[in-house]
Amino acid sequence: MGETIIPLADLRYHAAVPAIPARLEAPTGTLRDRLRRPLRDLRISVTDRCNFRCSYCMPKAVFDRDYQFLPQKSLLDFEEITRLARLFGAHGVHKLRLTGGEPLLRKGIEHLVAMLAEVRGADGQPLDITLTTNGSLLARKAHALKAAGLSRVTVSLDALDDGIFRTMNDVDFPVADVLAGIEAAQAAGLAPLKVNMVVQRGVNDHEAVTMARRFRGTGIVLRFIEYMDVGATNGWRMDQVLPSAELLRRLQAHWALEPLQPNANGETAERWRYRDGGGEIGLISSVTQAFCRDCNRARLSTEGKLFMCLFATQGHDLRALLRGGRSDDEISAALGALWAQRDDRYSELRSSGRAPHDGAERRVEMHYIGG
Ligand code: SAM
Ligand code: SF4
Ligand code: SF4
Repeated sequence: MGETIIPLADLRYHAAVPAIPARLEAPTGTLRDRLRRPLRDLRISVTDRCNFRCSYCMPKAVFDRDYQFLPQKSLLDFEEITRLARLFGAHGVHKLRLTGGEPLLRKGIEHLVAMLAEVRGADGQPLDITLTTNGSLLARKAHALKAAGLSRVTVSLDALDDGIFRTMNDVDFPVADVLAGIEAAQAAGLAPLKVNMVVQRGVNDHEAVTMARRFRGTGIVLRFIEYMDVGATNGWRMDQVLPSAELLRRLQAHWALEPLQPNANGETAERWRYRDGGGEIGLISSVTQAFCRDCNRARLSTEGKLFMCLFATQGHDLRALLRGGRSDDEISAALGALWAQRDDRYSELRSSGRAPHDGAERRVEMHYIGG
């Protein structure tokens, strides 16, 4: 008799198979969770692999040669991802963000983009499809991604100083290649382009002003992200966080900045504008200023587990439904019921000193569910 081999990775994160409600209610596009928050944004991790080893995300000591990434067959395939995107679209999702790991490592990613570009939301409109990347393969892929229907990209870039950048990605990757990727994306029309910088005090905080100077006046929106306590492997400490308020003061020593209205409800970044017309920056204060109140995001892991919060310790195994022969109506009703039960607000609880400590060691990793 053949032995059943359960891949280690499948056991890594707790996930329950969602119950199918007895009454299969059709999606209305107006779902609300227990805190009255709608579902608008689905982040889809297309691979748990990455060619970088950023110490705050996939530290080399943990993600070494022996680390077992997910086997190919446990990943959702493009048809499965597209089917779920369609069901989420009917529930009111209008933005998809492809992420990872490094999403451009997923073979044929542009084909997935083309399939997702065919999906229509509850309002009959195409979904907004974006992607977050470390930029290393962007120069090669930008054109094909745009042609496939990608709207925009966000490139993560933590420093302009080549030495600091190589140390932070920990695989000696040169910053010039990421900058070339950014240029290629701009040339391909993947705009407005955003650049995300995770700021760590004592590591790259002194690069913030240099980064602002570099991207001012380019049409690129630079966003500063507070270093977060996601996952369980990065050894996060509060004293490594540079609060956005302090960062803003540093920028204001160089330029006059004024606040802007948010583009949309639930937007993560606080927007600021250079008074002299040099463009816009964003501050993502995930640690010092929780934005759970408007959080309209769900996250789908590479192997089809749905997480309702970046800090969740438990997922919902949608792949089991997809591969268990469940109908669209059944899966859709299950999704509706899951969102209706959602009451996650980890950052808000942490700010008020009430974040649950137990389970921290089981929190999902960022490279697994994406940013
Ligand atoms: N590999 C791609 C990239 O780096 O853009 C996509 C996946 S990455 C997990 C998504 C985003 O999460 C990146 O902008 C990254 O900088 C951010 N990130 C990862 N770990 C983080 C942490 N501990 N705190 C804040 N942001 C983090
Ligand atoms: Fe890779 Fe992105 Fe994580 Fe860096 S932040 S290790 S590039 S997944
Ligand atoms: Fe959303 Fe969870 Fe982040 Fe709060 S902590 S903003 S609920 S992902």
